[in-house]
Amino acid sequence: MAELKENLLDWLRDAHAMEQQAETMLKGQASRIEHYPVLKARIEEHIEETIGQRELLEGCIKRLGGSPSTLKDVMGKMAAFGQAVGGMTASDEIVKGAMAGYVFEHFEIASYTALIAAAKTAGDAETARVCEQILVQEEAMADWLAAHLPEITEEFMVRDATPGVEAKK
Ligand code: MG
Ligand code: FE
Repeated sequence: MAELKENLLDWLRDAHAMEQQAETMLKGQASRIEHYPVLKARIEEHIEETIGQRELLEGCIKRLGGSPSTLKDVMGKMAAFGQAVGGMTASDEIVKGAMAGYVFEHFEIASYTALIAAAKTAGDAETARVCEQILVQEEAMADWLAAHLPEITEEFMVRDATPGVEAKK
């Protein structure tokens, strides 16, 4: 039965690395945005949530007797993705960034969905509760991005078509 806890601990560490990457990515995005205050504010709100999520995960990891560390393959690839998004400087970076954020939130949703099942299978009700709490925040962010992507795109296009107005960020 030790394997059940080992798997759970492994995936909690993955999620911890994912949240560290999320924080870097979101801070990169927020610091670059100049002309889209509504999106910037929502990202800043999610940065606070993301920091709280990382702390909650640390609590779960410690309770199970582990310590957060070790970037594995999948997370390494998501880390590269996050870094690329956080430092993106394309001419349409505001739209591409919002799209990438939507993708990243769904990776998080998948991670916490699996983690909740893992915690329940391992008999760790507290970790399941924590991950359910985090999942709600990830779903809310994903929903927000999906709902606002059309207007962000429209605003970008209108700004881009206006002489002397910066559109990209
Ligand atoms: Mg998160
Ligand atoms: Fe998130």
